[in-house]
Amino acid sequence: MWCMLERVKPPRFRYCEARSVDEALALLAEHGDDAKLLAGGQSLIPMLNLRVARPAVLIDVNRIAELQTVETNGALRIGALVRQRRAERSEPVRAGAPLLGQALRFVGHPAIRTRGTIGGSAAHADPAAEIPCVLSALDAEFELRGGAGARVVGASEFFVTTLTTALAPTELLAAIRIPAPSARARSAFLEIARRHGDFAIAAVAVSVELAEGGAIERARICFANLADVPYRAHAAEKALRGARIDDERAVREAAEAAVGDASPASDLHASARDRLDLAKVLLRRALGAIAAGGSA
Ligand SMILES: Cc1cc2nc3c(=O)[nH]c(=O)nc-3n(C[C@H](O)[C@H](O)[C@H](O)COP(=O)(O)OP(=O)(O)OC[C@H]3O[C@@H](n4cnc5c(N)ncnc54)[C@H](O)[C@@H]3O)c2cc1C
Repeated sequence: MWCMLERVKPPRFRYCEARSVDEALALLAEHGDDAKLLAGGQSLIPMLNLRVARPAVLIDVNRIAELQTVETNGALRIGALVRQRRAERSEPVRAGAPLLGQALRFVGHPAIRTRGTIGGSAAHADPAAEIPCVLSALDAEFELRGGAGARVVGASEFFVTTLTTALAPTELLAAIRIPAPSARARSAFLEIARRHGDFAIAAVAVSVELAEGGAIERARICFANLADVPYRAHAAEKALRGARIDDERAVREAAEAAVGDASPASDLHASARDRLDLAKVLLRRALGAIAAGGSA
């Protein structure tokens, strides 16, 4: 472990490099709320430069090898520090979570994804971000490590509100587990953004399990940027159960039901009303793409 004092464009902070999870946890225990973990830095560094975040200590976890593994043992387990670009190109990720593979190409640009990590995006918890949306749709589980031990929380518990997760100041996200997809699962990810690589104005992640003949046995649907957390559309999931994927009326009704409880914000990119309308269109298109036999 080594530390030094830095004076750069952001407010003054102390830089510490952790070489193991235990070292990172010891530094978190010492500094608590005053510290931030540094992963890919693609969200944290801009926040420091804008002085939106002012941690006294940065704990660099980039050298911790045990946070960088991808394993498949039934479920897919992605270490928090796995780079987004590596996940995008990883055969185990594409096989174990095709929806994540589809969504990653919408996250910023290749240069951003080369540094940005899967766990960093989850821990940052931006409601407009693609990765938290997909992890919620896939019922991912989050392995948290702290001084008191390890715990696992589901996506609905992990994402608390905008930029806030269930992580305590003395915990780190170690890995994300994604249940293995059923052989009958089909998925699609679609988003609308002003330019490719921008954050989504609205996005949808859809995974359906189809019976022979095209009836939907189970649907999992999550939207980005429709609420302060990834917005799981339980009403639409229920409405689609038993319907044929190419039943246009059922799809239209599910799209209406999907946004019933959503409360998107208005901003300079889109009004709340526009976001709700876009979300319905995205869901219809995503289901249409799956019905047409492909992924989107
Ligand atoms: C120009 C640009 C465009 C972008 N476009 C998009 C986009 O379209 N969609 C999108 O989703 N994102 C986008 N991003 C953000 C990018 O995806 C980030 O990589 C991601 O949000 C954060 O990952 P990171 O590894 O860089 O985390 P960092 O920036 O290092 O950290 C982010 C936060 O998470 C915490 N953290 C990181 N790792 C852990 C951990 N293991 N345990 C606990 N806490 C942790 C940090 O302390 C910090 O608070 C963009 C970024 C840039 C600069």
